[in-house]
Amino acid sequence: MKYLKRFIILFVLLDNLLTNLPGRYMFKSHWRIEGRCKQCGICCQEIYLKITPAQMKGRLFRRIAVAWICWLFDFIYLRTDYSFNCIVFTCRHRLSDGRCGNYFWRPSVCRNYPLTDYFTEPKLLPNCGFRAVPND
Ligand code: SF4
Ligand code: SF4
Repeated sequence: MKYLKRFIILFVLLDNLLTNLPGRYMFKSHWRIEGRCKQCGICCQEIYLKITPAQMKGRLFRRIAVAWICWLFDFIYLRTDYSFNCIVFTCRHRLSDGRCGNYFWRPSVCRNYPLTDYFTEPKLLPNCGFRAVPND
């Protein structure tokens, strides 16, 4: 089962790479991220995955999505946040000192954090080692 998950994750990461390439080189954000991760693991305590309002209304869709994400990424479902259209998870791989116990195989949501919006200032957690800097 572990190897099946890794095989699927490779495709997810390839998809992520191809999705991010145009954004990185063709449509530059107004913001860039500087700094480095302090490996505190605070961002792994509650992972907010955004879905569309239409997906939010589909109970079956949400159940399948939650089951798939929990299985593939070893996440644990915490709650559905209706005010932000998000499903909230935590992760089995977060070690007691905050570091990631699955760093090489971590999913795209972890690799892409902190997310950089094109126009709005990225929001970072307090004491995060990264900071948002406006592009000139
Ligand atoms: S909150 Fe920031 S410094 Fe801490 S683990 Fe997440 S990205 Fe790294
Ligand atoms: S896979 Fe690693 S980086 Fe991603 S949420 Fe889990 S502990 Fe954090």
